[in-house]
Amino acid sequence: MKRKYLIEYDRANCIGAAACAAVAPEFWSMDEDNKATLDGATKNSDNSMQTREVELDGSELNNLLESAKTCPVNVIHVIDKETGEKLI
Ligand code: SF4
Repeated sequence: MKRKYLIEYDRANCIGAAACAAVAPEFWSMDEDNKATLDGATKNSDNSMQTREVELDGSELNNLLESAKTCPVNVIHVIDKETGEKLI
């Protein structure tokens, strides 16, 4: 069963390690300025923050969480929309 999650990505503090895109290319791609982009995300005015609501099954969520855990500067966060729990 799929559940709703909110992904919050602090793009301003991405250091361009590209680990997220290597682990979960279904969510992340690398931009020309060598920072990651959360595909399909809503961007704020200066693109320093990206957010996206997603509906994921267990294995899709695991891939997303793995990509967030692998980020060396912890700029990727995932919140369970139903419980409000911050998973990472
Ligand atoms: S792993 Fe983190 S620092 Fe590296 S590109 Fe992804 S968001 Fe940026």
